[in-house]
Amino acid sequence: MKPLFLYLSAKWRICRLPDCYTAANAYFCVMNTYPWGDNRPYNAYARFFREKFGTRAQKVAIDAGFTCPNRDGSKGVGGCDFCNNQSFNPSYCEPNKSITQQIEEGIAFHQWRYKKAQHYLAYFQAQTNTYGETEVLLQKYHEALNHPAINGLVIGTRPDCLPDHLLSALQKLSENHFVHLEIGIESIYDETLLAVNRGHNFAAAVDALKRARKHRLTTGAHFIFGLPGETREMMLDSVHVISALPLTTVKFHQLQILKGTRFESMYAENPSRFELFGFEEYVEFIITFLERLNPAFVVERFAGEVPPRFQAAPGWSMIRNEQVVSTIEKRLIEKNTWQGRLFK
Ligand code: SF4
Repeated sequence: MKPLFLYLSAKWRICRLPDCYTAANAYFCVMNTYPWGDNRPYNAYARFFREKFGTRAQKVAIDAGFTCPNRDGSKGVGGCDFCNNQSFNPSYCEPNKSITQQIEEGIAFHQWRYKKAQHYLAYFQAQTNTYGETEVLLQKYHEALNHPAINGLVIGTRPDCLPDHLLSALQKLSENHFVHLEIGIESIYDETLLAVNRGHNFAAAVDALKRARKHRLTTGAHFIFGLPGETREMMLDSVHVISALPLTTVKFHQLQILKGTRFESMYAENPSRFELFGFEEYVEFIITFLERLNPAFVVERFAGEVPPRFQAAPGWSMIRNEQVVSTIEKRLIEKNTWQGRLFK
């Protein structure tokens, strides 16, 4: 008993948890973990995949040649004011290549960069990947799943393109494969969604997430911080609404003004309409947000990164995503805080 007592005493003196003397916190203390099971101060995507697959999993982006209802006229034209699909599409992603060819080129690309990955997920990323004839969609998903290196699907889409019959088909697929929906929500405020020409309201996002949950599908959501019309307080307040959504993963991006978007011309006309985050301010904002975020949510991204050639307004210079993550993580530890510390 003595060594355990000494160990507990030493740990309690440097404990990260506020109400340390409860049994549950003593357990985290002894195990040197946070509630999500490791010693990183936020619930990281890497751990989520390690738990699922036993090792690192890498998403391989695919451009399956779909379009978007906000571009083809059925919901709108010209797309959302911030969107330029080319800015995040890796160079091997071309819709005229087959899904299989893109997977092979994508794996070769990632094996060179991330040597540790042993599992790959086909990431239907560009445009709206649930928008089309169900048979065509399923045929593309199956082509990806038939590739021997692919362990599952991540399907990027928007809330108003998830009809129940497609969710049922995806539920069936998920009986034998990992299937994850990644839904662009961007903001909880209807006035913002209207102003950026999103073509759907927040209620549509809540409805899509609830129906996906009913079909036992895991979901992730994407949010942008810095959209015009939203104050820092509004963005921070949104954490309580976001935390209550039926989500598994979240991705956050700072607004970047990209070439070829409506925001590019709006910014050129009047830059003061935008209050873009500087790097240091964003790190502090994300930490404050993260402290209030539901600790059950797996955080996939804190910030977006696009090549400088796509940027139409001063960005964060050469700061790469790895550096953003390590700065946030380091700052959380320095401040002795973590995801969900102030979650209600
Ligand atoms: S962000 Fe998504 S929904 Fe909006 S235009 Fe781009 S692909 Fe379409």
